Amino acid sequence: MCTILLVEDNLLIRELVREILAIARYEVVEACDGNEALRKVAEIEPQLVLLDIQLPGLDGYSVLRRLRSDPRFNKIPVIALTAYAMQSDRQRIFEAGFDCYMTKPIDRASLLENIHSLLVSIRLADAKRATDPLSTTGPSSTTNHAS
Ligand code: MN
Repeated sequence: MCTILLVEDNLLIRELVREILAIARYEVVEACDGNEALRKVAEIEPQLVLLDIQLPGLDGYSVLRRLRSDPRFNKIPVIALTAYAMQSDRQRIFEAGFDCYMTKPIDRASLLENIHSLLVSIRLADAKRATDPLSTTGPSSTTNHAS
């Protein structure tokens, strides 16, 4: 089962999104602020994160920056949840390194479509890495055994 971390401080939006994800059979773990988000990422290692931009304390940009600078978490797809739809924000969101963004109110079909396509592309990238001879770290034929 695929686990998604949902980071949103607004209770109503969190419940709505949780419901959408649960019906689509995703496992959902929730966080209400940036610090809790970072703790839960480390704890559950989710396959994807839905990250609200405006959060108390550490905002979505700061959380993303920390995830992207950590080799354990920098491949996790992160979708921004934002109340804004202005061009400058879109640009800032992509420059920050979010994989995609959703403007509130969240549209159910587009949310599930975005999640699905990000999960598929990450699986393809993993499969490609696994079959790429340059990236394998299998046993070396030149290993010298001490005698
Ligand atoms: Mn918020």
